[in-house]
Amino acid sequence: MRSPFVNIHTHHYKENTAEEFSLLNIIVSKNYLIPQPCTLGIHPWYVDRNYEAQFDVLHQYGKQQNILAIGECGLDKLCDTEFHIQEHVFRKQIVIANCLNKPLIIHCVRAYQECIRILREEKVAVPVLFHGFDKKIELAEQLLGEGYYLSLGASLLTTKKDGLITGIPLDRIFLETDDKSSKIVDIYTYFCRVQKIDLNLLKEQVYKNFVDIFNYPLGR
Ligand SMILES: [Zn+2]
Repeated sequence: MRSPFVNIHTHHYKENTAEEFSLLNIIVSKNYLIPQPCTLGIHPWYVDRNYEAQFDVLHQYGKQQNILAIGECGLDKLCDTEFHIQEHVFRKQIVIANCLNKPLIIHCVRAYQECIRILREEKVAVPVLFHGFDKKIELAEQLLGEGYYLSLGASLLTTKKDGLITGIPLDRIFLETDDKSSKIVDIYTYFCRVQKIDLNLLKEQVYKNFVDIFNYPLGR
């Protein structure tokens, strides 16, 4: 049996096939929930005035079996939402993820140290995945040291973060397209070329990472 390409974070719905599995991200108060596997969270850009109601939605629907993770959620120093509100909403989502025993998908912009501190303070007990990571290897190593996973995206194709690609152990990575129109196969292919590994090996390993942390069989 061949492992499919796994696109761990996308905002574009694509039907899943034996060749490719996409995990659609649903933003509370912005997107409609789908019956297929997806992730659900309160994005720091879309925190309502009445965020308590968003917590209720997340807690209620987050229980559904097709919601594989909580997020994306986190901290963003470049958005308009007041930072202390972002922090409160992030803390609450860590609590919900712990309570539902589902992994967390983190959105983080210029607030890595704050994210790490809050995840520790809230005693996160589920797998944590920083999505869209394209920073320096030193920061990657710090996050890996905390036990977190990293998901790399389309920016690899243009920013040539080859040092980052070669520095991350294969059992801690995911790949994603996020809101970009790139193809997941192109991101896998680029990654393999830089790491000098076989595409099938990468597919096997990323699929294994997915099954390990999301505890979700893809009907195989
Ligand atoms: Zn996203």
